[in-house]
Amino acid sequence: MEIISDPTTFQERCRSWREKGQSLALVPTMGAFHQGHLSLMRHARPLADKVAVSLFVNPAQFGPREDLSAYPRDLDRDARLAREAGTDLLFTPAAGAMYAPDHATWVDVPDLARGLCGRSRPGHFRGVATVVAKLLLLALPRAAVFGEKDWQQLAVIRRMVRDLHIPVRIEGHAIVREADGLAMSSRNAYLTPEERAMAPALSQGLRQARAWVREGLSEARVLAERLALFYAGNLALGRVDYIEVVDPASLEPVEDLRGPALLAVAVHLGRARLIDNMLLNV
Ligand code: AMP
Repeated sequence: MEIISDPTTFQERCRSWREKGQSLALVPTMGAFHQGHLSLMRHARPLADKVAVSLFVNPAQFGPREDLSAYPRDLDRDARLAREAGTDLLFTPAAGAMYAPDHATWVDVPDLARGLCGRSRPGHFRGVATVVAKLLLLALPRAAVFGEKDWQQLAVIRRMVRDLHIPVRIEGHAIVREADGLAMSSRNAYLTPEERAMAPALSQGLRQARAWVREGLSEARVLAERLALFYAGNLALGRVDYIEVVDPASLEPVEDLRGPALLAVAVHLGRARLIDNMLLNV
């Protein structure tokens, strides 16, 4: 596995593969790899001749009071895990190489970025869309793989790729969970043992909500109220940021649970802000 940090060298390597008729699949990440990331890399493996993984803690998607400087970083471990997962190229740019001091071009998908996580993280999805556009334009991959854990991010990227005619297939990968149901996240490392013991309640609540819907509950407002009570009882150290039911594609609020509906939640637990989601009626 080759490690490249210079964007122009990365672009050249991807181009030389293309010129030899070799296709590429890209997996954008911020590192601190866990099984969720490694599943994305394994998902990418059969999609193309070469797999590239980018590892970039993108400053543009962190708010001023967020965890940019504290975000876990371990390049040696990440490189070993990426190699073991069959990655051909690890792209590890420095922030200064991705953003010139006078960088002035932004990609924004405001209709999809406004709600859910966008409400408490203004500018976050503009940072995500911009960096993903830059990575896709550097690599020009045939496919790029993203996790459904960040459902809103995936929706933003799909819309951006469609609107800008970027010639790439966007693949979503199902949420990878710990044995107790907690969605894997690099930020789970922030949890104290006490918080970690409570954290599985987040996904237990989603499964409980889906059971309520299967039993006939059809009003999103009632579902959200019941789930808030569930979290008050079972996730007492947590502070709910949002509990929302939205259309899976438009992310617009949904009131009637008998159609397509995604239940999405975000909870502050200690230093971590945890997100999770579940389709309600599949
Ligand atoms: P991150 O490094 O957190 O920016 O995540 C990089 C990619 O991995 C994104 O597409 C995430 O959606 C995806 N990802 C992170 N955690 C999980 C998980 N538990 N299951 C599936 N995909 C994940």
